[in-house]
Amino acid sequence: MRNAIIQCLFCGSIIFIIWTALLVSYFHHNHEINQQDANIVWPLQKNMHLHKIHGLEQIQAYHLRGERSNTDETDEEKPFFKLSDNLNYSDPELFDGLLKYGLNVIISRSLGHERIVPDTRNERCLKKYYPIKLPTASVVICFFNEEYNALFRTISSVINLTPDHILEEIILIDDMSEYDDLKEKLNYHLEIFRGKIKLVRNKKKEGLIRSRMIGAAYASGDVLVFLDSHCEVNKAWLEPLLYAISKDPKMVVCPLIDVIDYTTLEYTPSPIVRGAFDWYLRFKWDTVFSYEMEGPEGPITPVRSPAMAGGIFAINRHYFNEIGKYDQGMNLWGGENVELSLRIWMCGGQLFIIPCSRVGHINKQHLQYDAGVNKAISYNNLRLVHVWLDEYKEQFFLRKPGLKFSNYGNISERVALRKRLGCKSFQWYLDTIFPELEASALMKGKHTIFINRGFKNPKSFNLEV
Ligand code: UDP
Ligand code: MN
Repeated sequence: MRNAIIQCLFCGSIIFIIWTALLVSYFHHNHEINQQDANIVWPLQKNMHLHKIHGLEQIQAYHLRGERSNTDETDEEKPFFKLSDNLNYSDPELFDGLLKYGLNVIISRSLGHERIVPDTRNERCLKKYYPIKLPTASVVICFFNEEYNALFRTISSVINLTPDHILEEIILIDDMSEYDDLKEKLNYHLEIFRGKIKLVRNKKKEGLIRSRMIGAAYASGDVLVFLDSHCEVNKAWLEPLLYAISKDPKMVVCPLIDVIDYTTLEYTPSPIVRGAFDWYLRFKWDTVFSYEMEGPEGPITPVRSPAMAGGIFAINRHYFNEIGKYDQGMNLWGGENVELSLRIWMCGGQLFIIPCSRVGHINKQHLQYDAGVNKAISYNNLRLVHVWLDEYKEQFFLRKPGLKFSNYGNISERVALRKRLGCKSFQWYLDTIFPELEASALMKGKHTIFINRGFKNPKSFNLEV
């Protein structure tokens, strides 16, 4: 009997040990898998989206997107960042550079102050001639903690590829950068461009939106051209933009934005696209219909664009002031590109992408999630929604119910501006400029929407989707 009890106890302990070992090995394995997941997924402040794009095969998947996503974190899609195969993350210099600047700092340093980039224009552009007498341009470049060489290449490409008589000046706005090489070292090396460059250093952090307005206030050229601080302009980039504005001062124009890969800094052409956005007010690139390219100019026809990407466009300086610059009440970064696009279209201007003008832009990837910027995006978008979206603001709140009662500051000046300029309704914008957006509201909306395509009688749909 005693033996039987001892045997039972012995068997019980063996079973206990086996179970414990199995459980320990199971949890250990799971932990490893989770760590592997964590290693390939990084929080990112901007979303990357893959869109159907005219000539998609010409580009490297979503690396086309590099400029603006204007996205804050939605319930629908959490931002994430996938590690690139091109980078050796165990190299401390590279990893540190990526954290600080969002690009491959080793390659950027080796490229240095200037380089020649491939001419990505369609060959038809080479046969185009522009008048010698064009408006003059003030190029405004805001920077905050930019990688020194990337900033310098932006400036030297403008100086090297812009005829002197149309380049009034380059205005640099330092938005309180913290890195040492952007102080005396930058001052020292900018001396070679003396006479062409104004450098303004903000006394407090203003954010991109107010910094651009500060730059515009210092400008004296006929046209303001805004660039990011990590661009490289291409051959004859400015002439087509200035020519379009010279014919119509209410014409706002963007170059076609080529991609400079943040891992290799390789400069590659983008296909013809137009700027758009969704009901979250996130910027995206969209298809250009082939019939739009069927005119006598074929693939170099200017493309009517419902929205601009972000920081790269040209606008008549007086017109910029007349239509209300940017919304001074917007913070830091985000939303201002869609707001300005709506204001241009709804208040009597036009917005086009000019394919013969090419500017490369580094599609930086930031490893860190920036809560301050995300907060600013929501705040800025709310201001936009309440000033410009009329009854369609509900489409935004359907997607972002959490923002319905959030604070957006005082918008009375912007509402008065809209009235003073006699701007058209958001319904007009949807009908005339961007019908595809309304179509997506029909898919997701839950209330009555009127459709009026001009040639049809207005119809009303009661949708329960
Ligand atoms: N920038 C700035 N202050 C800020 C944020 C950005 O001056 O608070 C500058 C930044 O250095 C860059 C430009 O604004 O030259 C646009 O910013 P970013 O490249 O992040 O925007 P995106 O390319 O996504 O439009
Ligand atoms: Mn940028």
